[in-house]
Amino acid sequence: MPLAENDTVSTLGDEGQRVWLYPLRVMGRFVRARTAVSIVLVAALLAAPWIEVLGHPAMYFDIEHRRFYFWGLTLFATDASYLLFLFGAFIFGVFFFTAVFGRVWCGWLCPQTVFLESVIRPIEELIEGPPSRRKRLDAEPWSARKLFRKGLKLTAFLVVAGAISTTFTAYFLGAHGVIEAQADPGSHPIGFAAFVALTGVLMFDFAWFREQTCIVACPYGRFQSVLMDGDSLTIGYDVGRGEPRGKPKDGLGGDCVDCRKCVQVCPTGIDIRKGIQMECVNCAACIDACDGIMDKIGRPRGLIRYASLNSLAGSPLRLVRPRVIAYGLALVAVTVGFGAAVTLREPIEVQVNRMVNAPYVTLPDGRIQNMLTLRVSNKTALVRHFVVQTLEPSDGEVTSPVRDLAVGAGQVASFPLLLIRPDPGAARSRFSLQVSDDHGYRHRLETVFLAHGAAAPADEGTRP
Ligand code: SF4
Ligand code: SF4
Repeated sequence: MPLAENDTVSTLGDEGQRVWLYPLRVMGRFVRARTAVSIVLVAALLAAPWIEVLGHPAMYFDIEHRRFYFWGLTLFATDASYLLFLFGAFIFGVFFFTAVFGRVWCGWLCPQTVFLESVIRPIEELIEGPPSRRKRLDAEPWSARKLFRKGLKLTAFLVVAGAISTTFTAYFLGAHGVIEAQADPGSHPIGFAAFVALTGVLMFDFAWFREQTCIVACPYGRFQSVLMDGDSLTIGYDVGRGEPRGKPKDGLGGDCVDCRKCVQVCPTGIDIRKGIQMECVNCAACIDACDGIMDKIGRPRGLIRYASLNSLAGSPLRLVRPRVIAYGLALVAVTVGFGAAVTLREPIEVQVNRMVNAPYVTLPDGRIQNMLTLRVSNKTALVRHFVVQTLEPSDGEVTSPVRDLAVGAGQVASFPLLLIRPDPGAARSRFSLQVSDDHGYRHRLETVFLAHGAAAPADEGTRP
């Protein structure tokens, strides 16, 4: 029996209209595992800006102070190179996992799938009932009952969309900032506008656009075929075993009983028996649906299963291939590079800069004073108290009007420093400082001491 042709997108009607899907919810080992993964992901995504790890929000892009907090790791603007490693790890991660596992991201990890399948559809089913009842409700004329159910559903969606947008905005404004923005939009106009816009986009997605995001809007769905080959793992139908399909009473030989359960559960409305299709998000619902049927008719599970195109055609499964090794090595290299860079990075960074337009002053007792600023980045999780001492020259003195040079965990602070020494008799001379803290940190800084006749170059700072 020939397979049907893949002639059109399943959600596109003959007249070009949208075909609304009513996917049946199925339970099975993959859906259960995916639900568990979704619970962890939703909890982590929604909790990250509200909980603290080592004294800071678990996830917070502090744009104002140019800092990024990521589950206990604090990255500063000067750590931008680490972001390159992270970006590299993301890119090679996508390459590697797509080459091996196909669209595992789409089915298991993508927020669109996670929220739509694990939050939105269950809410819809709770309020409007199973697909057959939902279909009837949509077809019937408007009534108080229909209005109530639709209103209740949209209100529930709005609560979910609002919670996600609030959390997303909190990633950039912080927990206090987002509460402030919602109480008084004028205090954070851009943040509030982002919150409203995102809530609107999510409502559009949850209430209407749904699987169209994966089918027509998502770029990853488009280019993933470039990253996959015939040996990449995907979800496929075993034509050799399933065909010719038919009801058992037909007496035909294939295992597929043509119950269409795999089509009914598909969130993108496709028939996986027609072959691998771009609309398939690898959610594995059709595997669970078909396994349930195979259990009932006493046939082995796996008529629809995770397999490669080549293995479905009879070749052995070959997950390790040259491209997988190349992507894997690149992924390991950037991940190790990131780990090493973070582990080996200086936990404390100090720098002194000369105050603008203040090369030196002559004190009443004839000594010369230079005014500088000490800038300290504390990338550790502890409050540090710093002390600055003179190493050279022996007649040099360093002091600060600030008594306690304390810098909080993950903070950057600047303190005024006064370098004083008797007139050295030269316009410029060397001045060495030692910066230390109460946790054993010690660092030598070299700067230039300016005296009579000297003018500070605009860019003068210090050499460590
Ligand atoms: S669920 Fe399995 S048996 Fe039923 S139509 Fe799909 S492939 Fe055939
Ligand atoms: S074909 Fe199967 S795996 Fe693909 S989207 Fe549909 S139900 Fe999910």
